[in-house]
Amino acid sequence: MIDIDEDEPKVKCGFRDCHQCCLDTEMLLTTSDLERIEKAGFDRNEFCLDPKQTGGFWQLRNINGRCFFLDEKGRCSIYRIRPLGCRLYPLILALDTNEVIIDEDCREKEWFKEQEYTKDQVISVHSLVSTLLLENPDYSFSD
Ligand code: SF4
Ligand code: SF4
Repeated sequence: MIDIDEDEPKVKCGFRDCHQCCLDTEMLLTTSDLERIEKAGFDRNEFCLDPKQTGGFWQLRNINGRCFFLDEKGRCSIYRIRPLGCRLYPLILALDTNEVIIDEDCREKEWFKEQEYTKDQVISVHSLVSTLLLENPDYSFSD
């Protein structure tokens, strides 16, 4: 298995009893995410929805409302190589203000809102969204 570079920014979630963000996930994957996960032996056509359904994006597939990679114990079965968006969650980009914020859908959003985030973490969120848009040039948020 090819690990993601451990120096890459991430946001640590210590709420081990929660896997809410892995239910009905709409996480989008970059080319780099796809290649890393495929190197571990998975097929993007199995772990993602058909891009024709998602405006051209590769988006994680859910099985019975659970992310393809969520195991029975509520853990991510590809934790070390999970998509960058999963590593940065609950930090997300608010597209209307271009600000990095805590996702209101996170169960522990109030706790996360009180934490401080590094410049690298914030830059990583912007960079992720830029990469996704560059890789999907036909997509428009006004659609
Ligand atoms: S890839 Fe892992 S962390 Fe990301 S939504 Fe799926 S189970 Fe959760
Ligand atoms: S929803 Fe929030 S608290 Fe729950 S696992 Fe995801 S990031 Fe952690």
